[in-house]
Amino acid sequence: MNADELPTLRDELEAHGLWANKGLGQHFLLDLNITRRIARTAGELAGQQVIEVGPGPGGLTRALLETGAHVTAIEKDPRFLPLLEPLIEWSEGRLRIVQGDALEADESELVNGARAAVISNLPYNVGTPLLVKWLKARPWRGDMTLMFQKEVAQRIVAKPGSDAYGRLAVLAQARCDARLEFTVPARAFTPPPKIASAIVRLTDRADPYPHLEAIERVTAAAFGQRRKMLRSALRALTPDAEPLLRAAGLEPTARAEEIDQNGFRRLADAWRATA
Ligand code: SAM
Repeated sequence: MNADELPTLRDELEAHGLWANKGLGQHFLLDLNITRRIARTAGELAGQQVIEVGPGPGGLTRALLETGAHVTAIEKDPRFLPLLEPLIEWSEGRLRIVQGDALEADESELVNGARAAVISNLPYNVGTPLLVKWLKARPWRGDMTLMFQKEVAQRIVAKPGSDAYGRLAVLAQARCDARLEFTVPARAFTPPPKIASAIVRLTDRADPYPHLEAIERVTAAAFGQRRKMLRSALRALTPDAEPLLRAAGLEPTARAEEIDQNGFRRLADAWRATA
């Protein structure tokens, strides 16, 4: 099946008198070359379950359906349902549309507990909370291929010692290997946002860290005052942080941005042992 046989997305938007609602982070990809590239980046999808958040007019949805995937698309804005519904028949029933807020969705129930890839051009305003929700989710969640603002993408894949390294990198990399795959210029979107975006691919690590809440707590304290030495920054967690740091094998004079994934895992373990 080929999405080129469908009316163009631009014609569909015009025919339905639809425009972008900035409050819902709506910036559309109307060029199938780009949405097909996103689908390709996600790997082999034929016969696989996919969850897409925010299909909007359906550019990425079309590219996903072309691969032979079964797509569950969660869209908050009901105005787009008339554009999406014809795709159900076109895909011979491989599309399910759910109208609602993805932050509140129970994805596991939507896919009957089956493993599902998550592939989305995310709304900017809820991209990070959705990622954190999915990092914690299991066992339904498969690999994730997600579009973020470029600066957020850089924070997800950042390594120690860089300015972008912080809570989000440690949290994401506690569960996943994260790679920035490619950037998409602002002009590729309708309407164009102020800044470029980037696709990040997150695949499950062989050794995921199980206690994400503990990582959230220790990184909140450590990066809350990222320029300070850990023995001061961690006072937000405990009045005397030195024994905790010693138990984790970390220098009390080190700063959060120098601590790698294994260091934060040891710190989270040490904190759990005292909590
Ligand atoms: N996938 C489309 C594309 O690539 O052209 C649209 C992407 S647009 C950046 C984000 C989409 O997410 C919009 O359709 C918007 O209505 C939807 N959206 C915003 N907040 C949402 C939420 N909390 N739950 C579900 N969808 C949401």
